[in-house]
Amino acid sequence: MKPVLVFAALLLAQALAVAQPRPIELHDQLVPQATHASRVALTLDACSGQYDDDLIQFLVRNRIPATIFATKKWLDKNPYGVSVIKANLDLLDVEDHGENHIPAVIGAGRKVYGIAGEPDIIHLRREVTEGARAVEAVTGVAPRWYRGATAEYDPQAMDEIRKLGYRIAGFSVNADSGATLKKVAIEERLQHVKAGDVIIAHMNKPASDSAEGLSTGLLQLLRRGFVFVRLDQVDLQPAAPPAR
Ligand SMILES: [Zn+2]
Repeated sequence: MKPVLVFAALLLAQALAVAQPRPIELHDQLVPQATHASRVALTLDACSGQYDDDLIQFLVRNRIPATIFATKKWLDKNPYGVSVIKANLDLLDVEDHGENHIPAVIGAGRKVYGIAGEPDIIHLRREVTEGARAVEAVTGVAPRWYRGATAEYDPQAMDEIRKLGYRIAGFSVNADSGATLKKVAIEERLQHVKAGDVIIAHMNKPASDSAEGLSTGLLQLLRRGFVFVRLDQVDLQPAAPPAR
C-alpha cells in the first residue's frame, strides 16, 4: 500500500474509533425506605470459571442473603455449585449475567477489559435471553435483573436490555475488583460501606482471597447493624461512582 493510502486508512480508523460510544459503567444504590435505614445488597457475579464453596457456605451459615448474577456458561460447568444454590433459594436470588459472558457493547472490534463485545444487536439479545432461560431452568424463577459482563454498557445495549424487560443492576462498592484483591484490601473496601450500597464481588474464583476477605468484612457489616436484601426485593436508583 502507498504511504498516502496507509495514512488515509489510519485517519479512517481513528474517525471510526471516535464515533464508537464509550461504554458506561452503571452505578446504583438502593431506593431508600424510611423504615429500613441500613439496608445493603450483596451481589456476586458467577461469570465463568469455578464455584467458590467457601464463600457460599459462609453466607448460608450466617444467613446472609445475596443476589447471584450467573451466566449459562457458569451454570453448565458447576453442577455442584448449582445444587448448593438450589438448596438455598430462600437466601440466594439468582439473576441473569448472560449466556456466554459477552460485554454489552455492540460493534466489530469493541472490547471491554480485553473481552470482545457483541457484533450486533441480535447477538446481544441472544446473550440476554439465553442467560435468562438458563437461570429459570435452574431456579424455576424468571430473572428480572440483568448485569452484563464487565458491568459496562453501550447506551444502545442498555435500551435493548430494558426493552427485553430486564432492569440493569449497577453497583456502588466494588469489593474485590474481579476477585483480584487481597483479603485486607477487600476488608478495607467493606469498611466504607454505607446504607443503600450495592456491593459487587465474585464467586467464581475459589483460589482468590474473595471468600476470606468477604467473610470478615461482611461479619463486620452485620455487627454494624446492616440488613442484607436481595435485588428481587428492592429497586435501585442511580448512585455516584465508587471512590475507587
Ligand atoms: Zn462477570
